[in-house]
Amino acid sequence: MPKTRDILAFVLIVLPWTLLIAVWDWSPINDFKDDRPEKRPYSKISFPLKKSCPPENKDIVQAGHTKDVYRRSLPWSDVLPILHVITPTYSRPVQKAELTRLANTFLLVPNLHWILVEDSQRRTPLVTRLLLETSLNYTHLNVETPKNYKLRGNKKDYTIPRGTVQRNLALHWLRGTFSHNNSNSQPGVVYFADDDNTYSLELFEEMRSTRKVSVWPVAFVGGLRYESPKVNTMGKVYGWKTVFDPHRPFAIDMAGFAVNLHLILCKPQAYFKLRGVKGGYQESSLLRELVTLNDLEPKAANCTKVLVWHTRAENPLLVNEGRKGFTDSNVEI
Ligand code: UDP
Ligand code: MN
Repeated sequence: MPKTRDILAFVLIVLPWTLLIAVWDWSPINDFKDDRPEKRPYSKISFPLKKSCPPENKDIVQAGHTKDVYRRSLPWSDVLPILHVITPTYSRPVQKAELTRLANTFLLVPNLHWILVEDSQRRTPLVTRLLLETSLNYTHLNVETPKNYKLRGNKKDYTIPRGTVQRNLALHWLRGTFSHNNSNSQPGVVYFADDDNTYSLELFEEMRSTRKVSVWPVAFVGGLRYESPKVNTMGKVYGWKTVFDPHRPFAIDMAGFAVNLHLILCKPQAYFKLRGVKGGYQESSLLRELVTLNDLEPKAANCTKVLVWHTRAENPLLVNEGRKGFTDSNVEI
């Protein structure tokens, strides 16, 4: 039989150690020391749209089991405007490369919600997996372009709009998800980011303050080094530096503007027109429903900086580069 003195000595030795180990394990310092992804301070971002979406909305897919390498999402701010970035995409050999490049950029942008819309009958496993493996906030949708609007073969037909029904589905989703009456809802900005472009991080910060529609130059479109809105000394847009039809109401590329979410919600009739629209008039078909030239807010240092590049491989690069009056050698591209 152990003596009472021995039991007391045992308790006095073991108890302090037990307490010490328990306190160490509980300490918040340990959370930072532990570098497992699920223990990092900002690794569990709850999707902010949940507040305004019915929980049964199946379109929103939160990043679940994620590869460690992509668990680098930024802290989510409840006050910073959300950038709703709409990307139409379709199956082709370079698709995964394009979407990976985009995802890598978007991971570096605070408060970004990626609305990826597949031009397909179903959401494909490739895109589903790619989205699951990032910690981005995203909505994954799909709609197939009607057969008569599909390109045949590899030949480019510039009168057939690409990505139009996909962008319209995303606009429809935004209108179904957010209410324009809700003055408490978090401010947002909508941007159409095709999957074949390159986007600087600065661009996203420029567009974040969009009150109605903001605009900026886009490189390697319309056969030029860059196209741009023309801005006067008062900081107002008064025309367009383009070769292709500068008399379009809004002679601007899809990547050259962003729209305030509230404006999208207040004008529910505003969509991209699929039928009866001449080539190059897609952007105008939406923008003329939303604003006039006078409303446009020039960004990127009054449209003197290029922050987005159209980078498709078969681009007929710089065909008009030498034309005086259309390029400005002071602009770095
Ligand atoms: N796109 C699509 N379905 C198609 C062709 C294109 O969804 O059949 C998407 C494409 O992934 C891109 C956008 O629509 O995000 C614009 O397509 P593309 O760059 O080929 O056209 P362009 O820039 O010449 O208008
Ligand atoms: Mn393109």
